[in-house]
Amino acid sequence: MDEFDLIAELFAPLAEGEEGARDLADDAAVLDPTPGRALVVAADALVEGVHFLAADAPDLVARKLLRVNLSDMAAMGAEARGYLLTVQIPRDRDDAWLRAFAAGLAADQREFAVTLLGGDTVSTPGPFAASITMLGELPPGAALGRDGARAGEAVYVSGTLGDAALGLDALKGWLDDLAPEDRAALVDRYRLPRPRLALGRSLRGLASAAIDISDGLVADLGHIADRSGIGIEIDARRLPLSPAAARAVAAEPGRLARVLAGGDDYELAFTSAAGDDALAALSRTLSLPVTRIGRASPKKNIVVNGADGIALEPGGGGYRHR
Ligand code: ADP
Ligand code: MG
Repeated sequence: MDEFDLIAELFAPLAEGEEGARDLADDAAVLDPTPGRALVVAADALVEGVHFLAADAPDLVARKLLRVNLSDMAAMGAEARGYLLTVQIPRDRDDAWLRAFAAGLAADQREFAVTLLGGDTVSTPGPFAASITMLGELPPGAALGRDGARAGEAVYVSGTLGDAALGLDALKGWLDDLAPEDRAALVDRYRLPRPRLALGRSLRGLASAAIDISDGLVADLGHIADRSGIGIEIDARRLPLSPAAARAVAAEPGRLARVLAGGDDYELAFTSAAGDDALAALSRTLSLPVTRIGRASPKKNIVVNGADGIALEPGGGGYRHR
């Protein structure tokens, strides 16, 4: 398929239902902004050999690309509306691979109610790469930033932590002591993040600061701390672990470092003064665990207290007592 076949056959069907995309047959999409709403825009790219492997299933690559962009909307408390897609395709890439990539986008468009609005298709002498620019909306002034946390507020996370990093370890053959079902559960979390859009929207007015955990809990809480001019104390005993991650850590306590510093979970971390009862009610409504893991402090650093209450230090082998 040449560039024009690709756009007409693979991408135009993904724009159905959004009139403003004009069947991808014009030079640009034309959208009516929702009156009284602020526009939210974010972009994220994946490069073969850097963010995923050439052997990875193309539909999962596409879904992960869409989901990491949706996760940025979730972190801001925004609703996703649609997206632009730029693909850089090596000349020898076969049509079946590209069809599977588009099928992955189609599957997740249905799940997350977004449509393709436009993009660009180019060929490259380098590896396959794709970038999505996501458009979303918010009530003006309602965006969740990283800069609103105050000392004394509680720190919460959604879902469970460390699964994606342990899933990557499993793919590398480092978790062979685990049951195959546990390895499969962790790998699934690595391959297919769950953007927490409903939680993000519900946190408007409830969270003082929020971020999605892409680089790792400690690093991402560090961004909130820096921007807000505070510190954060994490209680390692409270970190929410999936059954598979709990078994992995029980077998080898050093793996707790993956929970604290591993990336790719795409859960939300946020600060709030609303109180545990309000967050517990929200957790029940959304059927999504929300766990208080620590507290914002006036000391401008991130401290992780271990099982015995004594601070752990990040070292070469991960988090250990100093
Ligand atoms: P130009 O000549 O300006 O580069 P194109 O021929 O690249 O225009 O694009 C024609 C139309 O196809 C535009 O509406 C563009 O948004 C759309 N399009 C091109 N590539 C993609 C893609 N990868 N995904 C979605 N839409 C695309
Ligand atoms: Mg173009």
